[in-house]
Amino acid sequence: MKSIAPQYDCIVLGGGPAGSTAAALVAQAGFSTLLVERERMPREHVGESLMPETYWIFERLGVVDQLDAAGYAKKVGVQFVNNTGRESAPFFFRSHDDRRSSETWHVDRAHFDKLLFDNAAAKGAECRDGVRALEVLMDGDTARGVRLQTPGEDGSLQTVEAAARVVVDATGQSALIASRLGLQQMNPELKKAAIWQHFRGADRDETGGGVKTIIMHTCDKQSWFWYIPQADDVVSVGVVGDRDYLLKGRGAPATVFAEEMAKCAGVAERLADATPVDEVAVAKEFSYTTQQSAGDGWVLVGDAWGFIDPVYSSGVYFALKSAELAADCIVEGLRADDVSAAKLGAWLPEFSARTSLIRKLVHAFYSGEFRVGKFLMDHPQHQCELVDLLIGRVFGEQRGAIFDDLEPWLDRALAGEFQGEDGHDGGANVPAIA
Ligand SMILES: Cc1cc2nc3c(=O)[nH]c(=O)nc-3n(C[C@H](O)[C@H](O)[C@H](O)COP(=O)(O)OP(=O)(O)OC[C@H]3O[C@@H](n4cnc5c(N)ncnc54)[C@H](O)[C@@H]3O)c2cc1C
Repeated sequence: MKSIAPQYDCIVLGGGPAGSTAAALVAQAGFSTLLVERERMPREHVGESLMPETYWIFERLGVVDQLDAAGYAKKVGVQFVNNTGRESAPFFFRSHDDRRSSETWHVDRAHFDKLLFDNAAAKGAECRDGVRALEVLMDGDTARGVRLQTPGEDGSLQTVEAAARVVVDATGQSALIASRLGLQQMNPELKKAAIWQHFRGADRDETGGGVKTIIMHTCDKQSWFWYIPQADDVVSVGVVGDRDYLLKGRGAPATVFAEEMAKCAGVAERLADATPVDEVAVAKEFSYTTQQSAGDGWVLVGDAWGFIDPVYSSGVYFALKSAELAADCIVEGLRADDVSAAKLGAWLPEFSARTSLIRKLVHAFYSGEFRVGKFLMDHPQHQCELVDLLIGRVFGEQRGAIFDDLEPWLDRALAGEFQGEDGHDGGANVPAIA
């Protein structure tokens, strides 16, 4: 195998959706680009439900046909089930916006991430799996390259250094640069954990021409389940709750998973005839941001930039979008021979402002009082914007007016002002789009 060169225009660390997107776009612009991934591809990853707005980036990457041909389950909508078991009417994306971009997929992440990794290679990036980034080499505050651990020809591990004009950190929750430089800011209110498993033979409702992501609260509202039907009759089922609640003193994760399922009739009924196809998996997830997301010669993208709770399935979309925006700044910077923090991070203020809309919606979800039916009865003018947010449409046109009314409305709800009043979601605290 060709050895890693001593010098690149751009080195991207991490071969998930963010890293592969950044590498593809920078390489396509004609700059020498190295993409390294520590695992062997394909590798498993949680996060299978996409947001429809991913479509535009797939189109730019030129992978829509490959994704169409991959045989993933087509995602046509979302549905919410409250803690009493009451189901919202499914919301079908195409009834809000009839364009092709309103449909997306529930992907097999191992396959999907490999497809994007291979696409980066097809666009001209040098893509290496099984290569771990050990360190970003700095000259003062300026990144000048990376130290990598790579298998040698005899299989032994070797350490090599490569210089780069720009280093992109796309190492996901490992967040190589942000954790080394102490830049992560954890959100203590969203210290969550997730336990999940895949099943075959589970209930599969395909009205609307595809499947839906279903979000279901447990009866005591201590946790919620995702239900993500995939191809080959597989369904991904996971529970999310406060970390201490799920993982402290309750025994094996499989036991906790079964106990939580017993508190969620919607999941238990759907899995009545199903059999597991793998072991349960666990992730401890924090929601976090980074206080500095670009420096001279370096920039963070995807989960390495920040992580937003998975309830609205926004992670892959924001990984792709941040990588796209960063790649445009990198290309401009390389062309102008300006790889300063200001140039590489020019996209960040707008990106942070737009993604904060989803963060606000996450906080509304966990407030325990987000009765969307009631809110929309009180403020019907916000129906469209709420649905746009769920599709991922936070960029482009100015948005966010919904929060001018939602935040004071939630304060009133938390103060008990609406007790006894009902919305069309039957008083549930779960978003119910009908
Ligand atoms: C429980 C849970 C459920 C989720 N559900 C959804 C969902 O339904 N929909 C959704 O869109 N998102 C979901 N997400 C979020 C989603 O998984 C992530 O946002 C997304 O994978 C981020 O992509 P990324 O490329 O930034 O990082 P990743 O996909 O994590 O990729 C980072 C890559 O970097 C590699 N790496 C790490 N360290 C190094 C190193 N030192 N050297 C080289 N390589 C390295 C890793 O091996 C990995 O392959 C979920 C997350 C969690 C925790």
